[in-house]
Amino acid sequence: MRKTNINWLKKKREGLYCVPGNFFIDPVLPVEKALITHAHTDHARPNNKSIFSSKETIELMHLRYGESYCSDFQIARFDEKIKINDVTVQILPAGHIFGSIQFLINYKGYRLLISGDYKRTKDKTCLSYEPVKCDTFITEATFGLPIFNHPNDESEVKKLIKSIKANVNKTHLIGVYALGKCQRLITLLRNLGYDETIYLHGALTKISDFYSKNNIKLGNISNISECSRSEYANKLVLCPPSSLNDKWSQKFKNVVKGYASGWMRIRQRVKQKNIELPLILSDHADWGEILKTVNDVNPNEVLVTHGREEALVHYLTKKNFKSSALNLIGFEDENE
Ligand SMILES: [Zn+2]
Ligand SMILES: [Zn+2]
Repeated sequence: MRKTNINWLKKKREGLYCVPGNFFIDPVLPVEKALITHAHTDHARPNNKSIFSSKETIELMHLRYGESYCSDFQIARFDEKIKINDVTVQILPAGHIFGSIQFLINYKGYRLLISGDYKRTKDKTCLSYEPVKCDTFITEATFGLPIFNHPNDESEVKKLIKSIKANVNKTHLIGVYALGKCQRLITLLRNLGYDETIYLHGALTKISDFYSKNNIKLGNISNISECSRSEYANKLVLCPPSSLNDKWSQKFKNVVKGYASGWMRIRQRVKQKNIELPLILSDHADWGEILKTVNDVNPNEVLVTHGREEALVHYLTKKNFKSSALNLIGFEDENE
């Protein structure tokens, strides 16, 4: 990390470390105390001693990791400021997935905002991003290039409904990330009036049931294993992206393969993965949303992580923000 305004934030082998708070944020290796922005596996890892996050994130970590999710936890609430050693910490919604939060860390009046992954598009499965004024802003840049300009989510999902209606004899097999994308796609389909049962690969049922239990309405969903082969035609089946071309998918004979991801913007990836029905649906801010957010939180310094750091740093520097790349390792949103 180049010289930043904050000398109390350190990059260590375990991850980003707040010195006066004596904790890590989204560490990649087990630590004593970890603040976790959200439950995606590149941010939330098992075996930390103590974790501090939203109730949903803590429960999702428990669901995924079993007893190794942590030895001790503390639930963060939106309406309180928590003192951790010499800093105070406040949380705000990040709009990325269910339970995703940002951390506003205040040390001697200096405000550091760590957004984690975020987006500004409305998403019925989570609370919307809330901007707050800060001095240093740490932003992700997964889609931090001007070419990334996510289309309207409902228009993308309409393409899927149209294809289902036009191909009544085929099974639609759509790749989605298990946590977040799967349930967001389902709520978008329901919003547009698709009320048929939606079938899930076994790897997607546990988290989807967790969403349903928490009053995020997914309608009728069912494990595809409960369906016989003769019934596959005209079904909509969601699966992890890695299953689109594996042995499991071969049991479906007459299929339309789709993939819901921000990466579907890139033609080459669509071709590589043999996708007939690319749906550009992202849970990360695009270029315009990142710039809007920088304007909203109005910092004097922006630290960039997670993806296309250089382009954004270059652009922000030209716009007179102090900006540099954090170059943290271990964060990949290939599966977003
Ligand atoms: Zn994420
Ligand atoms: Zn991420």
